[in-house]
Amino acid sequence: MYLFNFYFSIGIFSAFVFVGYWWLYKDRVDIPASLNLMLIRATAYIFVWPVLFWKWFKSEDKTRFITEPELVAPEQRPVDPNIVKNSARNAEREAQTLHQEWLSFVDTLPQCGSHIMYKGTDIYGERLDGRFIFETADLLPLVFDKLNPKPVSFDDTDSANDSLDAECEASDGEAEIDSQTSSWVNTPNLPNTQEHYIHRWLRTYDPALFVCNVVPTSFDRFEYIAADMIEAGKGQVHCKSCDTVYDASDIKAVDGGQGGWILGELYCPSDHLLARRKKIHFMRARSN
Ligand SMILES: [Zn+2]
Ligand SMILES: [Zn+2]
Repeated sequence: MYLFNFYFSIGIFSAFVFVGYWWLYKDRVDIPASLNLMLIRATAYIFVWPVLFWKWFKSEDKTRFITEPELVAPEQRPVDPNIVKNSARNAEREAQTLHQEWLSFVDTLPQCGSHIMYKGTDIYGERLDGRFIFETADLLPLVFDKLNPKPVSFDDTDSANDSLDAECEASDGEAEIDSQTSSWVNTPNLPNTQEHYIHRWLRTYDPALFVCNVVPTSFDRFEYIAADMIEAGKGQVHCKSCDTVYDASDIKAVDGGQGGWILGELYCPSDHLLARRKKIHFMRARSN
């Protein structure tokens, strides 16, 4: 009981000291806290006085405790440049590891033959009827073009009439695009990087080897290559429901909508779904 009284008398004493401090100094701080807030804080002192009183007693800026809480500026901790450097290095190392994993994955795949078979995939996981068959020789240039987007070429005939400055600008622009293109091709962590590994898989194919390799499921971006091949009129599709092999020109490409997405859908002439992929995502227009 004695200890209890002792504890509370010190707590109440701290609370009074604290409120008194606020009363004395409230006109000297920029944004003094309200009386209610200070009463709540002072009451808290009764219960947790050892901690709070010690905190206040030891703090450099004692007025911090009698201002409105949200207006206290947080201390800016300087960012350690080494941490930034290390995380950049780690990200680079991770990308490098991933690249190595892909390379060893691709290099363990059996050598490609004359044909590649792609089982039609569906983003909703439905089992589909389409079995796409492409000639490896047709696939290679298409994948290569995806990896090497054609640089924008400037019309040289116009620049002859322009001043020297304009010509300089034009050549600067070309150099910039060239470096962009090479970084696009050489950087392993770009969005079209999987095409790089698909290309690596295909390029060692043996045209005399009459086998049909199945596209590994890890190459999930092959759905875009397959769609581009069909659009270019190359390849064939076996529809299991019709039990018929169709030419690329017989396949119907339809844009379907679902939620915010436009889905690219491929159908056989009898409307069996052969493949379905994500195409474009709509950003909903803001209402204001
Ligand atoms: Zn590489
Ligand atoms: Zn069909």
